[in-house]
Amino acid sequence: MKKALITGITGQDGSYLAELLLSKGYEVHGLIRRSSTFNTSRINHLYVDPHDPEARLFLHYGDLSDGARLVTLISTIEPDEVYNLAAQSHVRVSFDEPEHTGDTTGIGSIRLLEAVRLTGVNCRFYQASSSEMFGASPPPQNEDTLFYPRSPYGAAKVYSYWVTRNYREAYGMFAVNGILFNHESPRRGETFVTRKITRAAARIKAGIEQHLYMGNLDAVRDWGYAPEYVEGMWRMLQADQPDDYVLATGGNNTVRDFLITAFEHAGLDWEEHVRFDERYLRPTEVDALIGDASKAHEILGWKPSVMAPDLARIMVDADIAALECEGKPWIDRPVLDYWN
Ligand code: NDP
Ligand code: GDP
Repeated sequence: MKKALITGITGQDGSYLAELLLSKGYEVHGLIRRSSTFNTSRINHLYVDPHDPEARLFLHYGDLSDGARLVTLISTIEPDEVYNLAAQSHVRVSFDEPEHTGDTTGIGSIRLLEAVRLTGVNCRFYQASSSEMFGASPPPQNEDTLFYPRSPYGAAKVYSYWVTRNYREAYGMFAVNGILFNHESPRRGETFVTRKITRAAARIKAGIEQHLYMGNLDAVRDWGYAPEYVEGMWRMLQADQPDDYVLATGGNNTVRDFLITAFEHAGLDWEEHVRFDERYLRPTEVDALIGDASKAHEILGWKPSVMAPDLARIMVDADIAALECEGKPWIDRPVLDYWN
């Protein structure tokens, strides 16, 4: 049985990746942060008591800021595959907490790479790189596009990208970068723009709220569906050779487009409800990200099928259903069928 370690398992991607790997028969280990409140709502449906002989999901306390702990975990788990998904992942927040973002999203990756190198465990390593690294470079962006990050988050991801490549070249590690464009789902964090919009559409429709306060509606993003993207991560680690790949849909949508589709799907007129708040502007914006994933298509056979308008409708439906569950976490059951 293959063993995988996922950092960031409590996040959007970590939860889908854990589902995917369990469905493929892996033993899955996840790094979780100790918190005074439960932070496992996205993976509770996967949890099996570790005393159960059938259990294949195991959670371990740890933090990317604690290198010694990472060494202990890698040496005791001896994973075949390590997926480094943990990060302070919010661009706007990275302007407020630049040092913390650098420590987690940047230095955290080299702590994990060092843990693999020092323990000598023979494993494949996936780094969650980001289209934010392209920043001000105009679209379409692919693996050869110049990095021009526009935030502390983007800069920290560029650092992680290069140390991952460096460990591949210096130590012969099977270490790869997945350069993923924005990908969303009903499990997306509530302060990212898509989820903020779909959650507000559900709450306005239910009469709980009246207004949605937004920043720049002109930004262009290439939004895909997260379950399809975690499958691409797995494919990168099954390839014959380690390499770096863009995952994207090639879609070209503004924030306004997503807003209109989501509100229309909820039966609402967005102009009646949406207000501007400069608090949501960034000191430097990334105007347009549109990815070219032809390398992943050609070499890995990876091709996404869900485009932004369908994604908006999936997310609105899920947020309406979540409200009907009276605040209980939405477990997103339909996606479990997606792997089968
Ligand atoms: P989320 O924000 O949903 O999840 C981030 C995860 O990282 C959470 O599990 C969080 O734990 C964990 N984490 C944060 N800080 C630390 C730390 N110091 N030590 C250990 N764990 C930590 O992100 P996504 O799932 O959306 O994204 C996964 C990865 O992919 C991230 O690295 C992100 O930057 C990157 N990425 C995401 C894209 C997207 O569109 N979603 C696009 C390109 C890249 P907790 O639950 O306790 O907060
Ligand atoms: P990002 O692409 O990683 O920064 O993902 P986000 O979902 O946080 O933001 C996507 C785009 O939406 C950016 O260009 C933001 O400036 C824009 N945006 C406009 N209003 C908002 C808002 O209220 N919240 C967020 N998070 N983004 C917003």
